[in-house]
Amino acid sequence: MSHTIEKCNAFALRITNYSNTSQIIQFFSDKFGHIDVIAKGSRSSKSKYQGLLQPLNNYEIVIYKKESTLSILKEISIIQDNMDLFNNIEKAAIAQGAAEIYLQLMFEENDYCKFYDLLESYLNYLKNVDKNHILIFWRFLLRVTKYLGFSLKIDKCQFCQTTNPDTIYGISFKQNGLICKDCIKKKNITRNFKCNKDTIKILLYLKNISNQINNLEISKSTTKEINAVFKNYLSYHLHKRIHLKSLEIL
Ligand SMILES: [Zn+2]
Repeated sequence: MSHTIEKCNAFALRITNYSNTSQIIQFFSDKFGHIDVIAKGSRSSKSKYQGLLQPLNNYEIVIYKKESTLSILKEISIIQDNMDLFNNIEKAAIAQGAAEIYLQLMFEENDYCKFYDLLESYLNYLKNVDKNHILIFWRFLLRVTKYLGFSLKIDKCQFCQTTNPDTIYGISFKQNGLICKDCIKKKNITRNFKCNKDTIKILLYLKNISNQINNLEISKSTTKEINAVFKNYLSYHLHKRIHLKSLEIL
């Protein structure tokens, strides 16, 4: 069978058991984007991979890379262990949300490095935050929309530029950003997502919020609504239903 031996850096996005002793790892790599790799015999007690394969860890891997079928794991070593994230249920959910999003996206070859670096800095940043981790996730998603070419603009109404939270209606998917009540009527805009006032306030200040990250109180309903904004916005632009199951526990 034709294959090449390749080395790359990669995050384990998802690990699933396969047959009695093996595992399949869905990696996202800097060099090849998504790659599905089988770790043969990784669950047997004598395996050299014992205890090494964990989701969200960053690895250097050597694989027999195959084009049309699963690649085969040959060697693996940890670059960064991210298991700390799993000590906190909320952090774990929010970290896994990023992996869940990546698993649903298609990336252009030119963007592999950019998205790899984004995931690396996102997970590192998340480790050092004590409260309101979800804000880091939303900022990560903003960056994702930017890299995919449909940046979500949430600093003002996309028509009249107002930044007054009292007059903003919600998100216009078509206009890629916030829209106010007046402009919706005047421009006869459809495909909108109505947001409550707390959601609008957080969206308006999301980019400048880092200093006050510990002072904010974000309600469950606002968290749900902002997650829904991103989920629906991504679904609209990617023409498929995007899910975010990891975040349902929040
Ligand atoms: Zn307006």
